[in-house]
Amino acid sequence: MSQKILVAGAGGFIGGHLVAHLLRQGHKDIRAVDIKPFEDWYQKFPNVENVQADLQLKDACDRATKGATLVYNLAADMGGMGFIELNRGLCMLSVLINTHLLMASRDNGVKRFFYSSSACVYNASKQTDPNMTALREEDAYPAMPEDGYGWEKLFSERMCRHFMEDFKLPTRVARFHNVYGPEGTWDGGREKAPAAICRKVIAAKLAKKHEIEIWGTGNQTRSFMYIDDCITGIEKIFHSDNVTFPINLGSAEKVTINQLVDMVEDIAAIKLKRNYKLDAPKGVNGRNSDNTLIEKMLKWEPNTSLRTGMEKTYAWIYDQMTNPEKSRNFRR
Ligand code: NAD
Repeated sequence: MSQKILVAGAGGFIGGHLVAHLLRQGHKDIRAVDIKPFEDWYQKFPNVENVQADLQLKDACDRATKGATLVYNLAADMGGMGFIELNRGLCMLSVLINTHLLMASRDNGVKRFFYSSSACVYNASKQTDPNMTALREEDAYPAMPEDGYGWEKLFSERMCRHFMEDFKLPTRVARFHNVYGPEGTWDGGREKAPAAICRKVIAAKLAKKHEIEIWGTGNQTRSFMYIDDCITGIEKIFHSDNVTFPINLGSAEKVTINQLVDMVEDIAAIKLKRNYKLDAPKGVNGRNSDNTLIEKMLKWEPNTSLRTGMEKTYAWIYDQMTNPEKSRNFRR
């Protein structure tokens, strides 16, 4: 509990929840770093060393890792499909964050390093059918990941592997499959499907305009992992002695986007006319997490039902849209 922990990307969705979790666990020496101004952090805690810095810069990574024993890298320029399909160069520049953090961690004697990879590393040809079989870890190769964002993730995974082999820096890598929950991005263009659908349904309800725009045909399939499962999984993987390779961290509860909309309509007690925007960014046709390996290695897999998680997410976004002063950044 006395070790210094660096959480990179702590002003973001997952990083903020991770800091909250570490504090609950009794950790006292946490350094939280993000490029965003403090007022834009989703969660910010007074008893933490909060730093605003650009971790694409090597100097900033040196300062951030100084004295740290454990490093979690959750910093990346990222967003939902609407962002990553249109900002490939920006997404690839996140390679500077992970590369410089790895180098600084090695030089400052860090004992363990976590990297947040993504299901976007998987070979696109295995995701053309909504009824595809769930993705196993080996399906990342031969490499044909999501252009831009996925290539950066795959490259950075390998960088972690080689820093472990060559420089003896223990690294752990999880491939997150769509994470959702309160205190994350829900508007502005970087939001992902669960938050975007909640926002659109709430907006329709508040405006009494019973229509919703859906990107693609709505038949594309995905699985969505609730944030609490993501944090539990990060910790299990990070502290595991034998998960020394990239591993899926995602729910295996596959749904179509139309089914996700059905669920949110049900939570909101509303029915909407659906307008399908077929030329909008929509990603691969089918994606789901095969959890055989995580079950085998950790005797655990994400298990929050989509309905339970979406009810909490809907309630939080509803508060953001109707009473932002009361609800936003309440932990400041
Ligand atoms: P997020 O955008 O909410 O958080 C990322 C944070 O990184 C942001 O606060 C951002 O300001 C910060 N950041 C970006 N550039 C930085 C820089 N140069 N220096 C310092 N901080 C910088 O995203 P998130 O959902 O919390 O994602 C966290 C990690 O998990 C990312 O690596 C992301 O690629 C990965 N991931 C997330 C999902 C998901 O569904 N949310 C899925 C797969 C992978």
